[in-house]
Amino acid sequence: MDRSQLTNWLREDDAGRLTDLWYCADAIRRKHVGDAVHLRGLIEISNHCRRACLYCGLRAENRAVRRYRLEPETVLLCARRAARLGCGTVVLQAGEDPALTETWVADVVRRIKAETGLAVTLSLGERTRTELEAWRAAGADRYLLRFETSNAKLFAALHPPLNGALERMTQLGVLRELGYEVGSGVMIGVPGQSHEDVARDIELFGELNLDMVGVGPFIAHADTPMGAGEQSAALAAGEQVSADAAQTYKVMALTRVVCPQANIPATTALAALEPGRGYELALQRGANVIMPNFTPAAQRDCYQVYPGKGACDPVNETTWPTLLARIASVGRTCGAGRGDSPNWQRRQRGTWCPAAERSSA
Ligand code: SAH
Repeated sequence: MDRSQLTNWLREDDAGRLTDLWYCADAIRRKHVGDAVHLRGLIEISNHCRRACLYCGLRAENRAVRRYRLEPETVLLCARRAARLGCGTVVLQAGEDPALTETWVADVVRRIKAETGLAVTLSLGERTRTELEAWRAAGADRYLLRFETSNAKLFAALHPPLNGALERMTQLGVLRELGYEVGSGVMIGVPGQSHEDVARDIELFGELNLDMVGVGPFIAHADTPMGAGEQSAALAAGEQVSADAAQTYKVMALTRVVCPQANIPATTALAALEPGRGYELALQRGANVIMPNFTPAAQRDCYQVYPGKGACDPVNETTWPTLLARIASVGRTCGAGRGDSPNWQRRQRGTWCPAAERSSA
């Protein structure tokens, strides 16, 4: 699919045509990654952040946030709980927190691997090559770092750079080189984002040959410059992509078409917009992963990258069967084991070929 076809799909609102797109994405998902839904236990290990991203509620200048950092022992408790309930992976996510040092993270990764055998995904923002090497050596399997938008001008406006930090695209290359499963993604409907920008984002997912792609709607946070209308109005120019569930499903389905073998989560931001049906619809429109939140209740409300995040899908022994029933209700099974992306497995076997060759194959 070329960029103009992607752009047309993103502008499509005919219900019949969209049903065709959902059908196509679902068939590709079934063929390439099967019916298993992989569960990744999300642990939000710190909400301290040194950055000033205009969209994110954790930004350093937001004084309204009560900051926390979990003790390693607490992270281990959450990981054991995720393992007990049947997750094959834990995702350690945080703001860009310098106190999560190379040693701190490496020790926690080593302990989780030794005690639970789970796959470990890190999502700790822009970090140095030395840190990424040390964490991979400690056993980290995957890394998530969204490029947020392929529009360089928009990205620069959203994400003030920091001296010494690796540029996001460079970091994605380093992660691949180090043998991580590499995940990225974007927000949908950020002020100033056009349909062509999103079409380019999807094209780029394919060119980067990503192992995991997360896309979620932008949800304005009142305590950020982008939540206060002024900044958003300044960025908005011409055609604007909607930050709604309908648009997000389209991006997810098109991502499945372009990246057939990637792991694609039904994101929490989407579930927040569509309580009670977001997971189900996403699973029927390309997604094959869910990331239930294992952050302890006392801290969950403080990890508000967008408002209401902490309120989504609290996980405990009582609500767990409901989550499993939701997966079964759309005819799917729970993934056993780590749920590695077939894309990455193929790369490990040395049979990976670049996007250009794949599309002509
Ligand atoms: N510090 C890490 C983890 C950030 S949270 C990093 O920067 O990679 C993970 C994702 O949440 C971000 O990549 C961003 O895409 C998303 N996010 C942040 N603020 C958001 C908002 N207001 N609405 C929707 N998604 C948001």
